[in-house]
Amino acid sequence: MAETDSRPTNFIRQIIDNDLKSGLHSVVQTRFPPEPNGYLHIGHAKSICLNFGIAQDYAGYCNLRFDDTNPEKEDIDYVNAIQQDVSWLGFKWHGKVRYSSDYFEQLYGFALELINKGLAYVDFSTPEEVRQLRGTLKAPGQNSAYRDTSVADNLAHFEKMKQGEYQEGQCLLRAKIDMASPFMCMRDPALYRVKFAHHHQTGDAWCIYPMYDFTHCISDAIEGITHSLCTLEFQDNRRLYDWVLSNITIDTVPHQYEFSRLNLEYTVLSKRKLIQLVEEKHVAGWDDPRMPTIAGLRRRGFTPNAIVEFCKRIGVTKMDNLVEMSMLDACIREELNERAPRAMAVLDPVKLVIENYPNDTSETLVAQNHPNDESMGTRQLPFTREIYIEAEDFREEANKKFKRLVLGKEVRLRNAYVIKAERVEKDEQGNVICIYCTYDEQTLGKDPADGRKVKGVIHWVSATHGLKAQVNLYDRLFSVPNPAGEDDFLAALNPESLLVKQAIVEPSLQNAEVGHSLQFERMGYFTLDKSSTTDQLVFNRTVGLRDSWAKADQE
Ligand code: ATP
Ligand code: MG
Repeated sequence: MAETDSRPTNFIRQIIDNDLKSGLHSVVQTRFPPEPNGYLHIGHAKSICLNFGIAQDYAGYCNLRFDDTNPEKEDIDYVNAIQQDVSWLGFKWHGKVRYSSDYFEQLYGFALELINKGLAYVDFSTPEEVRQLRGTLKAPGQNSAYRDTSVADNLAHFEKMKQGEYQEGQCLLRAKIDMASPFMCMRDPALYRVKFAHHHQTGDAWCIYPMYDFTHCISDAIEGITHSLCTLEFQDNRRLYDWVLSNITIDTVPHQYEFSRLNLEYTVLSKRKLIQLVEEKHVAGWDDPRMPTIAGLRRRGFTPNAIVEFCKRIGVTKMDNLVEMSMLDACIREELNERAPRAMAVLDPVKLVIENYPNDTSETLVAQNHPNDESMGTRQLPFTREIYIEAEDFREEANKKFKRLVLGKEVRLRNAYVIKAERVEKDEQGNVICIYCTYDEQTLGKDPADGRKVKGVIHWVSATHGLKAQVNLYDRLFSVPNPAGEDDFLAALNPESLLVKQAIVEPSLQNAEVGHSLQFERMGYFTLDKSSTTDQLVFNRTVGLRDSWAKADQE
C-alpha cells in the first residue's frame, strides 16, 4: 500500500491543502506546546499525532515548545518526561527544544509596545474587584478605575512590577480591549502578573510572568508557525490571539484552529485530576499501568504503533465525544496478536500428577512461538510427571459445553499429550488440591491411534521447572464511563482495578526483558514489568484476548 493511501483526512488537513494550493503558505509549520506541569496522556497523543503527523505528511516542521509561564506548577522532571514520551511515540521535533520562556525578553518588549500604544494598563484593583467588574455572561463588565492611567504612568508602574517593587496580587498588566465584549476573554484580559517564583529555565531573572493568551500567539508568530492547532475550549480565545498579533509589530501571522479534545471512557484526562491521583496515592505513580498517561500505557505494554493507530482511528473533528476504551484495547490487541510470542502461564494453579509418567524422567518438548509465523521460531518446554493447570480448567462433573478437563474424561495438554483425569484429592473444605491423571504416550503431536476424539486443549506448566511470577491483572481505573462528570470523581474509582496473582510460568521466560510482551495462551497479553527481578518475575496484563467488556456492557 502506498504511503499516501493511509494518510488521514480531516478538516484541518483540508485547510492546509487549500492554504498550500492558494499559495498562502509554501511550508507547513506546526508545534506541540505542552505545559510541563504533568506527564503526557493519551489526549496529548492525539495532539502529538495531529501536529507531528501533519509535519511528516506535508514535509513541513513541528516544534516542541514547552509552554512554561506558570513556574510554580512546573518542574524539570516533567520537561524531561515529556521529551522522552514524544520521542518514544516516534516523533522528532524540528531543531532544538523550545520554551516560551526563551521569548520572555521579546514578550516584555511587546508588552511595552502595547502600553505605548495605549492598549495596556497596570491595574491595582484587588483580585475581588477585578472579578466583580468583569461582569457575567449575561451582564457586561465595567471599566476599572485604572483603565485611563497615562502611558507614562503605566510604563513606570510596569517597570516597578518588573523590578519586584509590587507584591503578588497587588497589580496586573491588562490589555485594554472591551469590558462589554460578549467574549469574556476580551474584557481587558490580564497579560502579566507578579510572581516571585523560581523558574526551571530562567531561574530568578523574572518576577513578572506573561499569561498564556499573550504568550502563546506571540511564541507561535516568533517561530513562524502557520497552523496553530489547539482544543475547542480555546475557541473564544482565538479573538484575543488575533487581537494581540494585530496590535504588535511582528511579521508572521499564524492562524489558530480548534479541534475536539479526546475524552476516553472509564478514565480522566485532566492533568489536575491525574496529579491528584498521583499525589494522593490512588495509583502507584505517573507510570502506574492503570493511568492513561503515555508512561502508564508503555509500562502496561502498549507500543507507539498501537497508540498512533488509535489516534488515526479516532480522527480529528470538532465534535466532542467520549471514546470507548475498547477502541484503544483493540489497537494493542491486534498488534500483539501478530507480534507477541506465545507462552504458557498458569494464573490460578492446581497441581496435576500424571501417575503413569515415570517419576525420574523429564523430557523436552518443542513448541512454536507463534501459530501463524514460523519465523518467530520455537522454544523448549520441559514436561514432567507433576504439572500445574488452571483451577478453572478442571471440573468433577460438567456438560458437553465444558471443553476442558473433567473427571473420567480426556483433554489435550497444549503442545504435549492427551491426559485423562482419574481421581482427585481434596482439602478439608472440599477444594480440589490435586488431580491424578494418566497420559496416553502415543499422543504427542498426534491424535489418539484408535480414532477417539479429544476436543479440549488446556495449557499447563511443569511443576518442577516452572517459575513463580507475580501477575498484575488490571481493570478499568474507574467504575463509571465518565468519572469527570461525577461530583467526586475519586468516589468512582474502581476498587478492583488491580488484582495481583501468584502465577507459575514456563521456564523459557527466565530471561525475558523488561517491556517484552507475550501472549499467555488462553489468558491474554502480558508484558514484563520494570519491577521484575531474576528471583521474582512480574508481568502486567496489557489486554485480554478478547473484549470481555463488550459482553458485560450489554448484560
Ligand atoms: P489539561 O486541561 O489536562 O491541563 P492542557 O490542555 O492544559 O491539559 P497542555 O499541556 O497545555 O495540557 O496540552 C498541550 C497540548 O495538548 C495542547 O495543544 C492541548 O490542546 C493538547 N491536549 C491536551 N489534552 C488533550 C486532549 N484530551 N485531547 C486532545 N488534545 C489535548
Ligand atoms: Mg494548557
